[in-house]
Amino acid sequence: ASGYSLLRDPRHNKGLAFTERERDTHYLRGLLPPAVLSQELQEKKLMNSIRQYQVPLQKYSALMELEERNERLFYKLLIDHVEELLPIVYTPTVGEACQKYGSLFKRPQGLYISLKEKGKILEVLRNWPERSIQVIVVTDGERILGLGDLGCQGMGIPVGKLSLYTALGGLRPSACLPITIDVGTNNEQLLKDEFYIGLRQRRATGQEYYELLHEFMSAVKQNYGEKVVIQFEDFANHNAFELLAKYGTTHLVFNDDIQGTASVVLAGVVAALKLIGGKLADHSFLFLGAGEAGTGIAELIALEMSKQTKSPVEETRKKIWLVDSKGLIVSSRKDSLQNFKKPWAHEHEPVNNLLDAVKAIKPTVLIGSSGVGRTFTKEVIEAMASFNEKPLIMALSNPTSQSECTAEEAYTGTQGRAIFASGSPFDPFEYNGKVFIPGQSNNAYIFPGFGLGLVISGAIRVHDDMLLAASEALAGQVTKENFDKGMIYPPLSNIRKISAEIAANVAAKAYELGLATRLPRPANLVKYAESCMYTPVYRTYR
Ligand code: NAP
Ligand code: MN
Repeated sequence: ASGYSLLRDPRHNKGLAFTERERDTHYLRGLLPPAVLSQELQEKKLMNSIRQYQVPLQKYSALMELEERNERLFYKLLIDHVEELLPIVYTPTVGEACQKYGSLFKRPQGLYISLKEKGKILEVLRNWPERSIQVIVVTDGERILGLGDLGCQGMGIPVGKLSLYTALGGLRPSACLPITIDVGTNNEQLLKDEFYIGLRQRRATGQEYYELLHEFMSAVKQNYGEKVVIQFEDFANHNAFELLAKYGTTHLVFNDDIQGTASVVLAGVVAALKLIGGKLADHSFLFLGAGEAGTGIAELIALEMSKQTKSPVEETRKKIWLVDSKGLIVSSRKDSLQNFKKPWAHEHEPVNNLLDAVKAIKPTVLIGSSGVGRTFTKEVIEAMASFNEKPLIMALSNPTSQSECTAEEAYTGTQGRAIFASGSPFDPFEYNGKVFIPGQSNNAYIFPGFGLGLVISGAIRVHDDMLLAASEALAGQVTKENFDKGMIYPPLSNIRKISAEIAANVAAKAYELGLATRLPRPANLVKYAESCMYTPVYRTYR
């Protein structure tokens, strides 16, 4: 290839880092200014320029441009500055990027499969330049973060998730494929927008929807085989549970909103017990929001309790209560409840708002998974503080605008007694001379390592015990030093080590369950996981 095309190929371009020798052998003379910079110096230069932007979306655009220009440098930045850059390529900024994705769209970052491609999905997959794919993240854009239906513009989410698969979990960028399925949108604003990039029609539902999804799932298996991880992301719950149940027995599928979230929250709760005291089964849980996240978390907590206490899950579920948009889920509502809520309809008189539910249930743990901001009001937080020495409060909804409460509200409303974590990051908060570091309870801790574990073991199915294994590995990474600062998650700056631990524990479980196909089993799975991880250091070209 010519030097000119080498510079235009983001996978191989090194910009000013091409050495004198490479410039000679690869026809680069004259195409670059004379200076030769190291990757470290390039990194420093780019961080300087990114830090000059005041508007987060400008930082996002600068990073996306970098990815299109020089992939290894992009990942080096992301890996070396996780805590600083995650809020840009991921929640909260990625939410804003999706809202404006139509105007940000420049070049394909993933595949678009719309109703127009019906009957031709296999051909569409073959248009993607890479052949060997290990992880697909797919959305249909109907429930993007807590922002609702963003149609085709949801593409920002699979793109962002997969850049985390690489940066945090060490999957090769070329092995990752973002996909958006476009069956229309019910977002009136987008339908009216003359510049909208997606199908201009209302969402297809029922048979038409399920046929397209089925063709997609079959084409993926035919094209990439059985060991490709398919992560469902930000589907609305009326499809999410059904798709997961339907394809869970035939494909290696994983729903991050239901399962990844469950695993990360369970890890946080288990870690928090070191600060609050008691065993898991000594606690009672109240959720605001009984959708994918809420019921997914509830089920995994009940499962872990059931394993610990050797009692049936039907019993342990009774420690867990959920509130949805109509109030506390109770048995008298059973007939009108969606299937995924039915296991949570316990005996209780009707309660129609969160504050009354908090007062009636007196939970030790309060979890927000409603997608509605500011719902943990001052009264709710104060009620939690009135009957708990150390209330655990988790405000999971994303992005920051949808968070059930802020870190400040949680700490001040409880006189600094709360253990607090949130889905989108909050800055450390000082209260009465003490600095509290809020944890980020986000599935980003789990899915990269979880996916890596599936890939390195050659797993063919996901099992709930693997989610428990991931959770256990994550909780085990919180150090005494972290606990002393009130943290229930380890710092994200260590995420690659954490991901390797998670991957190893997940892979071990896959082998134990007979679901792994990569044989023989490596003796040291942590070392093996680490050795498989992509690093963004430049290659030398001969
Ligand atoms: P979902 O399936 O649509 O569920 C939302 C739930 O909230 C539903 O049960 C809904 O009630 C309930 N709800 C909505 N408005 C309410 C209100 N005003 N009062 C009480 N309940 C209300 O959505 P999801 O997938 O669970 O996601 C929910 C949120 O969690 C989103 O903001 C998402 O970003 C966040 N999330 C965070 C993470 C993380 O890692 N931190 C992971 C996944 C999701 P009905 O059932 O009655 O409609
Ligand atoms: Mn999600």
